[in-house]
Amino acid sequence: MIKVNKSADVPIVLARQGATERARLCSEFERHAADFLSGARDFAEFKSSVYGHKSVKEQLIAEQHGKCFLCESSFRHVAHGDVEHFRPKGGFQQADGDALGKPGYFWLAYDWHNLFLSCQICNQTFKRNLFPLYNPQARARSHAADTNAERPLIVNPAIDDPQKYISFRAEMPYAVRNSRRGKATIEAAGINRGALVGRRRDYYQLIKLAYRTVHLPPTADLMVEENRAFARTILDQSVLATAEYASMIRAAVKARFRIV
Ligand SMILES: [Zn+2]
Repeated sequence: MIKVNKSADVPIVLARQGATERARLCSEFERHAADFLSGARDFAEFKSSVYGHKSVKEQLIAEQHGKCFLCESSFRHVAHGDVEHFRPKGGFQQADGDALGKPGYFWLAYDWHNLFLSCQICNQTFKRNLFPLYNPQARARSHAADTNAERPLIVNPAIDDPQKYISFRAEMPYAVRNSRRGKATIEAAGINRGALVGRRRDYYQLIKLAYRTVHLPPTADLMVEENRAFARTILDQSVLATAEYASMIRAAVKARFRIV
């Protein structure tokens, strides 16, 4: 996970239709607040044609460099990906296995700052409706509540610096200083799932080779120097925000590709 710089330019479809939809949901909630809070009543629908509009998705793809905001996989060549709600719109779970709490963060369903591009596995298999808080009693239950009073456990890469919470030993993620937020994020997003770890391992080995090539002793051998220049280009690109698994490679470079 790396920092996501969300543009202040809210996509027009969210600013217009999204605002209308939000007002409709809020007024429906106000008419039947007790029923919504007890779970007796639910919202009929959230319009994916609005929050998942092509223009929204394209802006997310551009700002996140086509990578999943949770696992940093570049998946756009094989999957469409999801427009994921950081605070889940339809219901919430404090912990895996909990009954779905209602209502969800319905007033944020069309909120630009609540939307991220995610791969389907992170969103649909792992994070789903999980939104654990340090202080579950302070959970915002409607648009009248203050979400700023919440202390979310899952790292929000648009607000937090993910590197303060999650780092890597080679391809394995760990919570920095054993932080609860790091652990919760790794678990909720499945950043340590086997297939993803395996994919990162292969990539780590390639970049390690580039790193070693860059750090070969100086030589008069032109072939070696050519390879070094080529390896330096690969290494330099691998730490950019545009690169897949940049957070892992940044940690590896800092550790000089030794396991610390
Ligand atoms: Zn993902």
